[in-house]
Amino acid sequence: MATIAEYIWVDGTHPTALVRSKTKIMPETLEAPDLSDFPLWAFDGSSTNQAPAATAIGSSSRSAWWPTPSAARARRLVMCEVFEPDGTTAHKSNKRAVLREVMAKAAAQEPWIAFEQEYTFFDGSKPLGFPCRAPLPRPQGPYYCGVGADEVYGREVVEEHMKVCLEAGIHLTGINAEVMPGQWEFQCGGPGVDLLTASDHLWLARWLLYRVGEDYGISATLDPKPVPGDWNGAGMHTNYSTAPDAHHRRPRRHRGRLRGARHPARGAPGRLRLGQRRPPDRRPRDLLVQGLQVRHRRPHRVHPHPAHGGRGRLRLPRGSPPGRQRRSYDVCTVLLKTTLGLW
Ligand SMILES: [Mg+2]
Repeated sequence: MATIAEYIWVDGTHPTALVRSKTKIMPETLEAPDLSDFPLWAFDGSSTNQAPAATAIGSSSRSAWWPTPSAARARRLVMCEVFEPDGTTAHKSNKRAVLREVMAKAAAQEPWIAFEQEYTFFDGSKPLGFPCRAPLPRPQGPYYCGVGADEVYGREVVEEHMKVCLEAGIHLTGINAEVMPGQWEFQCGGPGVDLLTASDHLWLARWLLYRVGEDYGISATLDPKPVPGDWNGAGMHTNYSTAPDAHHRRPRRHRGRLRGARHPARGAPGRLRLGQRRPPDRRPRDLLVQGLQVRHRRPHRVHPHPAHGGRGRLRLPRGSPPGRQRRSYDVCTVLLKTTLGLW
């Protein structure tokens, strides 16, 4: 029986990259395939903002098994990188390759990372849970972590997404309904999960979310401000830690790098959200440090947290770039470089 592999990659769309995929059918049965079993494969870079150079997908990441309700449709998920036509030079949109290089220098610091990905369901052009015409749903309040058909919308999709993620081996650690009707969050990564793995799993979990949504006729968006007005935005919190004795740069360095990433062109979606009447959350938009939650103008350190074996834990709010563009490979690279002085 043939092996079906879904080649998944991050495209070159700016400022918010999209996830793409195409299905490769290989005639042989691969019971326990190695990544080397999945060959390079070409795609049309002119349709993914990766032209003209990108014509090859490299299966240099990991694969996960995605059993579908019909075993006959089960397939392998292969998280890919994009290379130039020579098949070895990373394409400029390939931020995973950059992170790989930086991680090689940071291995001794034992970094780990966790993402909290918020998203909003839409039924066509209408947010799920919103009526086709007025009146609008009740004001926000009961929806966060709510229960009941009058408070949560789309749970069947969320539960199916959780199921396929776990079956695919994704490091999912939790889900919850969010503040706006039809808005949800999943968490992945965490202690012991390296930055590459967590980032790969985030993209795979996003792909599975969109794909599962197809079966229900429901789309999911990561739009930071999906509904104008007094409705919550959505974003991606990042939690990060290193070994307790890791050398961390002074806060000024953190601020400069993180602020430097807040380029207008890259930060536009986030500013849109932050500029609304109801901001994404009520915390300062700059760096937060677990335990103190001090604002960036005051000195701050990475404090040990007893829940993490005495390790420090750094938390970036969802408004922090490049998290607002959900570019997890970039987020990891910036964090490693700034906290470990690898610039
Ligand atoms: Mg949240």
